[in-house]
Amino acid sequence: MQVAVVWFRNALRIHDNPVLSWAYESENVDLVLPMYIFDGKIHQRSTQTMAEHRLRFQFDCVENLQQNLKNKFDLNLHIFSGDCLEVLESIREQLRSFEVLLLSEYSTNPRDKKQLEIIEKNLISTNQNWSAKSFPSSQTILDIEAIVSSPEYKPPKSMKDMVRLFKKEFGDYENIIFETNEPNPSSLKRKKSLSVNSKYQVSLDQIRPLLSTSGYFLGGENEAIARLEKKVTSQHDYVKSFNKPKSISTNVQGNPMEPTTTGLSPYISTGCLSIRRLWNSCSEIQQSSEHTVPPVSLHGQIMFREMFYLLSRSVENWDQDSGNSQCKEIEWGELDQALLDSWDSGQTGFPLIDAMMRQLNATGWMHHLGRHAVSCFLTRGQLWQNWTHGRDIFERKLIDSDWALNNGNWLWLAGVAPFSMPYYRIYNPCPDSKSSLNVETKDAEFIRYWVPELSEFPSKYIFEPHLAPLHIQESVGCLIGRDYPTPIIDRKESRKKNLQLFKLSLEKLR
Ligand SMILES: Cc1cc2nc3c(=O)[nH]c(=O)nc-3n(C[C@H](O)[C@H](O)[C@H](O)COP(=O)(O)OP(=O)(O)OC[C@H]3O[C@@H](n4cnc5c(N)ncnc54)[C@H](O)[C@@H]3O)c2cc1C
Repeated sequence: MQVAVVWFRNALRIHDNPVLSWAYESENVDLVLPMYIFDGKIHQRSTQTMAEHRLRFQFDCVENLQQNLKNKFDLNLHIFSGDCLEVLESIREQLRSFEVLLLSEYSTNPRDKKQLEIIEKNLISTNQNWSAKSFPSSQTILDIEAIVSSPEYKPPKSMKDMVRLFKKEFGDYENIIFETNEPNPSSLKRKKSLSVNSKYQVSLDQIRPLLSTSGYFLGGENEAIARLEKKVTSQHDYVKSFNKPKSISTNVQGNPMEPTTTGLSPYISTGCLSIRRLWNSCSEIQQSSEHTVPPVSLHGQIMFREMFYLLSRSVENWDQDSGNSQCKEIEWGELDQALLDSWDSGQTGFPLIDAMMRQLNATGWMHHLGRHAVSCFLTRGQLWQNWTHGRDIFERKLIDSDWALNNGNWLWLAGVAPFSMPYYRIYNPCPDSKSSLNVETKDAEFIRYWVPELSEFPSKYIFEPHLAPLHIQESVGCLIGRDYPTPIIDRKESRKKNLQLFKLSLEKLR
């Protein structure tokens, strides 16, 4: 008898899930054992790799997956916490009489790859009844491994390269509707769940009270589908006119939590939403009339994502600033922990930067142009800190944290990659209404919400409150330096100095 152990890692959904579909539809599989493994430190509210909102979001995703598997397929998701090899070892004996097939999603993340290597070496190769199979295109549209290993492959540097690649792969790619993998719960091949016991098994009811409360974004496939419907499927004009660089970074007027972009990233990165489902929804809407095109369209955003997945697989040391062909080794110098802490906690004295970072701390999310503002500020703009420090903080805190995308975008914003924006194009952290950061400056509602110390400040001074005359500071009850920090750096001087340092560093590399 064959049992398929379906290991959910980065595709926490039942729709368009190639791994689940295969297990469910395969003639040879008799029983299915779905499982998810949390970090061993799940009981501690946050772990080394996940800050509390990210962990809570992940928890909600797993809980919803458990419900959906039960309701739609009558399958029991086994939830463990601990080291992956130890977890599998703990159920090995119970699977002794089966032919065991360990199924998982393909991933470019070195942590995922390492886990599988260890399992291959210590479990699969030493137990004759075990084998493993990984499924491409679970997280991406492209089969990353196949593209990267084709003889013509060259690392893409721009959207033009991606358009060329998509045309070659799919022809009329803008109109394509991709086939999805939908297992049929009522098919004759209906599979039974296999149940096992392990000391590593955990109950969600026991963990839930230990975690932070859910934030603005609730995790899970049901939420993902509801958001897709609300922001994309039912919004034809929005999709057809989607123009990313023009989107407002300070969220929807009247709701400082709600993104002006789709806000689907937490669902895509956890795999609660299939990227093909999003692509297809856009294709269906766009087919009928005129629409924006890559790089600014929604299809364009998805193609950026595919580009970073390709690069993350094909570029050695993708997450390093040394030995990485996509990263110029700028001399960033030693870490200044105090500067990094001010940035991290939203206490820099620059209200836009602080509002964005406080939003990240409170919800685990930030608009793309907000990410531009804070990453530029931390690196080549003002604070001259190595991009990897900001990358690490984002990786832990973002509920859409994605190793391929986070590194790719930090490389982009630090000005060090071939696909980067020019290093001398530095954002003003105190923007006016004309800034390409697209900040709502008239009412400055976003700043007032996230930096409540400044809630009574006149809009004229709110982006640079230390310039407000003392009588204004007194009249609104917020003295700069006492109630809100004075800027930790002179933005104009640091900008000038950093431009010179960057230029000098580049010259040394030539
Ligand atoms: C410094 C920095 C770090 C980032 N780290 C991450 C990360 O860890 N995880 C993550 O998902 N995104 C990351 N991004 C990219 C981008 O900011 C988010 O994907 C986007 O803001 C998510 O919001 P949305 O879903 O409303 O995007 P939309 O504009 O609605 O786009 C739809 C989807 O396209 C993809 N996408 C959009 N922009 C990009 C991009 N620039 N690169 C790659 N894919 C993109 C995402 O999956 C997104 O959900 C980062 C950007 C910067 C500047």
